[in-house]
Amino acid sequence: MTSTQSTASTVSFWINGEHAPAAGSRHGTVTNPATGAVIRTVPFADDTDVDAAVESARAAFPAWRATTPLRRARILMRFRDLLERRTDDVAAAITEEHGKTLPDATGSVQRGLEVVEFATGIPHLLKGEHAEDVGTAIDSHTLRQPLGVCAGITPFNFPIMCPMWMIPVALACGNTFVLKPSEKDPSASMLAARLLSEAGLPDGVLNVVHGDKQAVDALLRHPDIAAVSFVGSTPVARHIYETASANGKRVQALGGAKNHAVVLPDADLDAAADALIGAAFGSAGERCMAISAVVAVGSAGDAIVSRLRERATALRVGPGDRDGVEMGPLITQAHLERVRGYVDAGEREGADLVVDGRGLTVAGCETGHFLGPTLFDRVTRDMSIYRDEIFGPVLVVVRAESDGEAIEIVNQNPYGNGTAVFTESGASARRFTNEIQVGMVGVNVPIPVPMAFFSFGGWKSSLFGDLHVHGPDGVRFYTRTKVVTTRWPRQRDAVSLNMPTMT
Ligand code: NAD
Repeated sequence: MTSTQSTASTVSFWINGEHAPAAGSRHGTVTNPATGAVIRTVPFADDTDVDAAVESARAAFPAWRATTPLRRARILMRFRDLLERRTDDVAAAITEEHGKTLPDATGSVQRGLEVVEFATGIPHLLKGEHAEDVGTAIDSHTLRQPLGVCAGITPFNFPIMCPMWMIPVALACGNTFVLKPSEKDPSASMLAARLLSEAGLPDGVLNVVHGDKQAVDALLRHPDIAAVSFVGSTPVARHIYETASANGKRVQALGGAKNHAVVLPDADLDAAADALIGAAFGSAGERCMAISAVVAVGSAGDAIVSRLRERATALRVGPGDRDGVEMGPLITQAHLERVRGYVDAGEREGADLVVDGRGLTVAGCETGHFLGPTLFDRVTRDMSIYRDEIFGPVLVVVRAESDGEAIEIVNQNPYGNGTAVFTESGASARRFTNEIQVGMVGVNVPIPVPMAFFSFGGWKSSLFGDLHVHGPDGVRFYTRTKVVTTRWPRQRDAVSLNMPTMT
């Protein structure tokens, strides 16, 4: 048992530097997806709980804002070390509640750590601009100042990485924070809150509440919340963006995806197939950057489908903590049924079902939420398996005649999170990266998740708002700029009511 598993069967809130119970009795359950067993209960916050968390963050803000960026960074440095030392515990909590394999969960902790590392550079990142003599003996400089209390609402599929996209940058910039992680796998963020406290974060600077729409809507309406960062599905992202904006808040709301990989005939097809299998079926397809559609151009079609079939049927599926397992279960029974429903629909709608994951049973885990890797060929754009984000281990192949048609297919799709092109041609890759209307693009890289010192975000229905998360956009999102114009006059000017001009 890990320390996270042994803490309690009921998850608590984290308010003002300590565990806090819920005011009401509404709650949900956390399930181990590999067995289907309920392992924890999680309280659902109501308005009173949200008020308490926001009040704690509001009260902590003045002192935290006044703490120098260097001191804030040093707390994050200590947190970074603690998180690294506790990586196995965090990964175990993720595997237990989410289902992904331990190595995959460990990789997601690493990607979160990298954002903490980025945020430790905050004294440099907050530096402004300065211009001397914007007028005679007049200088101007800019300041980047924190916003106040920021809220983060995160999805189930990256229980530590998505909170880490937000919290280190927001705190480093001098904000205080209220996190509402996914109610399906809340333990990793509770562990992070405790580690931040252990690292020296003052009480109230980070608070965690759990819950559903009621808790989220209370945050969106709360007058003391200055900004909201959201990661989740597109319909909820749209709701968050519209509601929080209407309540006067700064918002970034990252939504769902249908990520296409275009395979050109000149690609190294074995390397492309290896990459696509990992990108489609890693984390059982429950990644916002999963490749869920392949656009195979010309003669690449049959060649890539036969390679994908061979590799997909060889994948080892099972509980995420079992050695050698490459793909784990889906998050809930309801989600498993939803994804199976899409496989049924694809068959009905006339796509070629090349690999069917529906018959899979995992010995010893008969009540787990497992679906085997599933591959459809000759999918058309009117089919629901192409149109919708399935968020499961289902890969669809669409055929195209030319590079141009492939680009047009990707650009017509309403989502624009990530995409990739597989080719040996620099000219084809350049055309693709130039013309494609997607926020994150890979060239022979299937999941082009930007490193922490770049920013992460999609286009179109994959992002509502203007700024991406972490990297330079993260610093812009969590600060507002002020321009200061200064003069130290040696003699008094005559009174003038004219528009001042800097001469
Ligand atoms: P979700 O939208 O159901 O939930 C996300 C968060 O919103 C959770 O904290 C949840 O409690 C809350 N929520 C759910 N319904 C709500 C409602 N009606 N009103 C207010 N809040 C609500 O998403 P999920 O199922 O947890 O995660 C999977 C989705 O997240 C997929 O669509 C995936 O593509 C997306 N995702 C996107 C990114 C990205 O970077 N663009 C990253 C990870 C996941």
